[in-house]
Amino acid sequence: MTTVDMATSSTGAAGTAPLLEVRDLHVEFKVRDDIAKAVNGVSYSVNAGETLAVLGESGSGKSVTAQAIMGILDSPPGRISRGEVLFHGEDILKLPENERRKLRGAKMAMIFQDALSSLNPVLSVGFQLGEMFRAHQGLSRKDAKIKAIELMERVRIPAAKQRVGDYPHQFSGGMRQRIMIAMALALEPDLIIADEPTTALDVTVQAQVMDLLAELQREYNMGLILITHDLGVVADVADKIAVMYAGRIVETAPIGELYKRPAHPYTRGLLDSIPRLDQKGQELYAIKGLPPNLLKIPTGCAFNPRCPKAQDICRTDVPDLLPVTELDGGELVGRGSACHFWKEQLHG
Ligand code: ADP
Ligand code: MG
Repeated sequence: MTTVDMATSSTGAAGTAPLLEVRDLHVEFKVRDDIAKAVNGVSYSVNAGETLAVLGESGSGKSVTAQAIMGILDSPPGRISRGEVLFHGEDILKLPENERRKLRGAKMAMIFQDALSSLNPVLSVGFQLGEMFRAHQGLSRKDAKIKAIELMERVRIPAAKQRVGDYPHQFSGGMRQRIMIAMALALEPDLIIADEPTTALDVTVQAQVMDLLAELQREYNMGLILITHDLGVVADVADKIAVMYAGRIVETAPIGELYKRPAHPYTRGLLDSIPRLDQKGQELYAIKGLPPNLLKIPTGCAFNPRCPKAQDICRTDVPDLLPVTELDGGELVGRGSACHFWKEQLHG
């Protein structure tokens, strides 16, 4: 199988393995007598200090990929049927569950969309933050509380000392999301996966939370995977982007280049459906049709039934994610497209 090796193009110092490298990951779910193919050969990588945005419509396999990396896949019915997840160069899919559990929280942490259902409603946020230090570092209750307050201050919760005993429902949505970030940061993990961390928030609060996350990521030099269905949210903070459709990556690019020159009609459609402040009143373009049925993914390119550019070959041949180049063959680092007609899309 040929894929664009995002790892090679983004490897830091010569010879060092990326922080995280996902290789040809496949995840399927047993649905009654059928199999839903949620993830169908995803490869991506993240280095320390780097932010990868994973973009795609609902149901494209973004979260399931993240769950497979974290080791929290709903299994059964979910099953990793193929692939590797290399963390610091080691395939963690081969580790026993007790070792995976040690990695979670300490070395890799996850931030979810819905803080209210991720935090325990009957325990104070201070207790829940402190628990990280008591459980993993054996701190006393008193010291753990001091650490909890420090963390709340790190994520800029006003009056942290006074609020450390408050319960999750006593905080606003934005503040709760800050507490989730604090929980994820507590043990200073090497990798954070944030799954739609601002989707439930108002637009202005979204930007504040995203800026905070980006700032802390830089400060701690963590790898960050930022999952979103909204390109607008990640534009300012991501280094590179992987666009997912029907469980596959259909385009990869450094973030700025994706905006300027998408190399896949699906990406073009997503860009055209972002509301623009300077085009008020204009009708918003939305991609026609529905996301594919994962029990019966279309033959050829999965996007072909919705693609304005589809030709015969698109209905029969699955396009591999391949490097794209300038017209003269010049290299475009980190860029790839799984479209038979990427040339027309990129240079047309
Ligand atoms: P998204 O890109 O919106 O994060 P997901 O990764 O959550 O999408 O889900 C991709 C697909 O995987 C879903 O559309 C669904 O078909 C399947 N799936 C996810 N979780 C489960 C589950 N717990 N049981 C059965 N199918 C699931
Ligand atoms: Mg999701």
